[in-house]
Amino acid sequence: MLGLNQDYPLTLPTVLTHGAANFGATEIVSHGHNETVRTNYAEIAARVRRLASQLHQEMYGSLAWNTHRHLELFYGITGTGAVLHTANPRLPPAQIAYTINFAGYRTLFIDLDTLPLAESLLSQLTHVEEFVIMAPRDDMPATTLPNVVNYEDLIAPGDPDYAWPDLDEKTAALLCFTSGTTGQPKGALYSHRGTVLNALSAGGGNGWGLNADDAILAVPGFFHCNGWAIPFFGPMYGAKLVLPGRGADTAFLHRLIVSENITVGPGVPTIWLGMLEHCRETGQGLGRLDRLFSGGTAPPAAMMEAYLKDYGVRTIHGWGMTETTSGSTMSFAQNDLAAMRTQGKPLYGNEIRIVDETGKPAPQDGKTPGLLQVRGHWVAAAYYKRPEVEFQTPDGWMGTGDIAAIDPDNTLHLLDRAKDMVKSGGEWISSQALEEAALCHPAVLEAAVLAIPHPKWQERPFLVVVPRPGANPTDDNLRAHLSELVPKWWLPDSIAFVDELPHGPTGKLAKNVLRSWLADGRLVP
Ligand code: ADP
Repeated sequence: MLGLNQDYPLTLPTVLTHGAANFGATEIVSHGHNETVRTNYAEIAARVRRLASQLHQEMYGSLAWNTHRHLELFYGITGTGAVLHTANPRLPPAQIAYTINFAGYRTLFIDLDTLPLAESLLSQLTHVEEFVIMAPRDDMPATTLPNVVNYEDLIAPGDPDYAWPDLDEKTAALLCFTSGTTGQPKGALYSHRGTVLNALSAGGGNGWGLNADDAILAVPGFFHCNGWAIPFFGPMYGAKLVLPGRGADTAFLHRLIVSENITVGPGVPTIWLGMLEHCRETGQGLGRLDRLFSGGTAPPAAMMEAYLKDYGVRTIHGWGMTETTSGSTMSFAQNDLAAMRTQGKPLYGNEIRIVDETGKPAPQDGKTPGLLQVRGHWVAAAYYKRPEVEFQTPDGWMGTGDIAAIDPDNTLHLLDRAKDMVKSGGEWISSQALEEAALCHPAVLEAAVLAIPHPKWQERPFLVVVPRPGANPTDDNLRAHLSELVPKWWLPDSIAFVDELPHGPTGKLAKNVLRSWLADGRLVP
């Protein structure tokens, strides 16, 4: 027997319609190139309908930073039943072109800050014929791009009463590519249903804990894991959104936190480490900031402690990957530093498990490491147009490439990416845990651990450190420090000091680049 509820599909237009109807006057503040726009959900919803009425293709792309116009694409394009590929401007140019060509659409939306990048990519683009520049009408630049349309000109004649078509909730909505650290980037194609359920679950009380009193600073790029669901959180929970454009400058982000009464600060730990330094140097506070949302890589414990003790700011710590839309597990910690350090528990809609190398379930005793697998409403089932890539177990779980331990109460402890683990004498050393221990040393600004081959132990850890400006950590005092924190057999065989470490497109340590430094002799153990 079927239930007798209405058939009301989980689609993205319902999210924006909800925002406009219930939180119409709630602000969206957008910092574009030479432009600050203060708008709200009611105005955005009308502009989105105008945009939607002007669209007739099956897929569009964006190469853009976080602005109100980019936000409009998330609803206007997807609401028509078309797909938005949010190309990642931080990928190497050849990979950006690869992702755009692979998806194969004709129209690319860009902004004034990505215009030079689009111009430089032009000769490599095989399908794009038209560029929509998301800029005010009176700020259109001279450009070498062909067939340029101004975004405001495109939407002005559109229909503000455009009626959304009935869509199956399983319709594809958004396409994000992984960063391609191994081979070419692979696409995760998110449905309306997966996207809505992810935002609904991740924004709730055991996740970001959002409500209409919140103001979110949208630091993560909209092109990374669906912008960490922020484009949907705003209208769904009635939170104010502050969109910093390409803004990665710490002082600028700090000004926004204070002047816009930001309550939630999401981002990779690098951003929040920089903010901490900035506050310490300038003696400034963090206004209404109540919680950080840290994801993408393990946040240093010392950072979470300093935010909590010095500024009363909690860290919600989440784990997820491009293939899981955005967050999958979250720590929803209150004031508990130990809990904040874990990757938390699965959000409703996701399940996690660990298995050994033969695929048999590993014990969930909080200690035994295993290969992490996940399944749920918003977990990818296959890569876009890459059916040959093995992805799922026969019983329907997705391998993550991460190594983790899981407590009996289902709390996740992510230990490392499988390929970053150091295998020493048949035991695993977590490069991530060793890096975190090194980071607790006051003279260490950044740390990376690589596995180097060893004739007897198979692999041994090699620690690479960026000292804090003005500090001079030595091999001996780092070793003494580490031996307080990790087992003796974890101590690195050698330590190198460098001026900087390579980072990937989302600010994470780029260990693949670091390994190439090792291979070409730029880095010597
Ligand atoms: P990229 O390959 O660009 O890093 P993703 O953003 O998809 O692409 O990365 C997902 C990976 O990031 C996860 O598989 C995991 O290794 C790592 N990761 C994500 N969140 C965390 C976290 N909270 N703690 C530790 N590692 C994390």
